[in-house]
Amino acid sequence: MPSRPRRSRPTGSAVAWAIDGGAALLLLAVLVTYLTRQPAQASSSPFEYLGGTPRPTLTPVPTSFYLPTVTPNPLSTPVEDYSTPTPFAFSGGPAPRTIGYSALGEPIENYTFGQGEQQYLIVAGIHGGYEGNTTDLANQLVVYLAGHSEVIPSDATLYVIPAMNPDGAARGRNVDARANSNGVDLNRNFPSRNWVPDWDRGNCWNYRPTTGGQSGGSEPETRAVMNFIGSHHLRAMISYHSAALGVFPGGDPWETASERLASTLADATNYPYPPIDIGCHYTGTLADWAVEHGVGAAVDMELSNHQDADFTRNLGAVQALLEFSE
Ligand SMILES: [Zn+2]
Repeated sequence: MPSRPRRSRPTGSAVAWAIDGGAALLLLAVLVTYLTRQPAQASSSPFEYLGGTPRPTLTPVPTSFYLPTVTPNPLSTPVEDYSTPTPFAFSGGPAPRTIGYSALGEPIENYTFGQGEQQYLIVAGIHGGYEGNTTDLANQLVVYLAGHSEVIPSDATLYVIPAMNPDGAARGRNVDARANSNGVDLNRNFPSRNWVPDWDRGNCWNYRPTTGGQSGGSEPETRAVMNFIGSHHLRAMISYHSAALGVFPGGDPWETASERLASTLADATNYPYPPIDIGCHYTGTLADWAVEHGVGAAVDMELSNHQDADFTRNLGAVQALLEFSE
């Protein structure tokens, strides 16, 4: 999730506040009930991976603290899956190249399609947990593009990084698995001009403790992508998230070329643009950092929910991306 929208929406914000207020009371009631009824389970903290020894597999929380109404995004339904995901294995196309390693030493991989001068990038899975459907989408695109080279114009090269946060992804599709193994929100960790270690959580994702890192670019996953972008001349890029808020242009304030890319991609996908303003100020995002460091245009784009890959809509987005020029 993305950058501060310019346009304010007082009505939307008021609704979001009302939802948050009501939800906070509900959450408190559920929490008290939970702690009273299940003292043994309550002693097993789901936050242990934060700041301590990373745990690849978290103990499932049988009675979830999570209430769907707590979400600042009423359009999306959360997922509570603590199982270990099946690794993506694909032998029918180009071999991926490792561009760096996660904090736990897992490779971060890039697939390359085409060999033209105009270079484009797709990054998915920057948030683990229930944003894993972005990695599903990227993997489906990799398989498709391997068999349909005609999608890539002769003057273009497309790079796809399907899983920027493999340690988060390995913890399953749940609320505990968003950050990397150091508890850092990677889409708050890029050393853009607006990077901060902490922010007002009021209207932002706030289900678990997380930070922007000890400094901008403190995390190995972030540095891997920074190095990749720094060593390529990218015309445009998409950073995928879920869910439902729409397409957020890079830049704080939004940059013109990124606004145009966002509008183009919204036309191709029917995702909302301008994006839905929940009153959260996004800092240290990949898209912001990218446009400050030479990428022609960048967006954060959210799939329609936390389950579906939205493949067909995003095949259209890829085609629009590959036709984009500043
Ligand atoms: Zn996200």
